Amino acid sequence: QNESLQKFSSLPSRSADGHSVEIVGNISKIEDIDSILTNGGDGIGLFRTEFLYMDRDELPTEDEQYDVYKSVLTKLEGKPAVVRTLDIGGDKEVPYLSLPHESNPFLGYRAIRICLNQQAIFRTQLRALLRASNYGDLRIMFPMIATLEEFREAKEILLDVKQQLETEGIPVSEKLQIGMMIEIPSAAIIADLFAQEADFLSIGTNDLIQYTLAADRMNESVSYLYQPYHPAVLRLIKTVIDGAHLHGKWVGMCGEMAGDTTAIPILLGLGLDEFSMSSSSILSARRQIAQLSKEKLATHIEHIFTLRTSSEVEQYVKTMLMEM
Ligand code: PEP
Ligand code: MG
Repeated sequence: QNESLQKFSSLPSRSADGHSVEIVGNISKIEDIDSILTNGGDGIGLFRTEFLYMDRDELPTEDEQYDVYKSVLTKLEGKPAVVRTLDIGGDKEVPYLSLPHESNPFLGYRAIRICLNQQAIFRTQLRALLRASNYGDLRIMFPMIATLEEFREAKEILLDVKQQLETEGIPVSEKLQIGMMIEIPSAAIIADLFAQEADFLSIGTNDLIQYTLAADRMNESVSYLYQPYHPAVLRLIKTVIDGAHLHGKWVGMCGEMAGDTTAIPILLGLGLDEFSMSSSSILSARRQIAQLSKEKLATHIEHIFTLRTSSEVEQYVKTMLMEM
């Protein structure tokens, strides 16, 4: 079993009927890259940079961050790296920033909301990222975007930082892509509008599910409502994929769902381009996709979208996989 799985570390990420996708990894620190690469990951689909800011007493400097981003890109030897800008707040605390105590932290002051308000922190991170961009295929994405204005403002700040660097004689890679996470229902619903202004979209299902069902992802008492296969979640995912493709943009997923064996056939059938997961899931995901035909999934997808509950969907996909 393990041996046959190992074979997939050097095979391309392609379905049985020849449809290519990217199977990439989620990381929180540089050391995590090694296991992504030994498992044959096609790159990094989510670098959670907030971990550079946590468990310490002060903000990381521009040079400190530059060294980390440069190492990540260098280690990848040209494979793409999607780096997410600071996503603190919610469950991730950074004591030295003295953020206000909130009764609803997941609906509060977090991620891009903090970055747009405390621009010095954001600009330092962007400078470090843009300086590192010359060492590989860097794709920057903004977390927790709810409105088009937020995306525009974040992108404008990035372009301003880029121009400043260029004035200083520091080049920025021409290949750089600027994208965003889709993890708030408002953004999912208007994904087609975002896709006109972003280079790519990446669906963060960990948050998207909690916000869609209004069920805290950390709260055991409501975990029965945390339903990845809820028809509402599936409709949102389809809306995002179709919206991105309508404007010729690629769309990925970096929530836990991207590595889930029941979700993968649905996501492949819907046309997801990039699946980002923990390193331990990469090989089995690649093997599963190699055994699935995207074209043959089409009629199943049609049926799945007539189902009315999460458990109906789960049952249907599990039976379908057993019969294949
Ligand atoms: C997500 O919300 O799906 C996601 C990938 O981000 P995080 O889990 O870091 O909130
Ligand atoms: Mg999230």
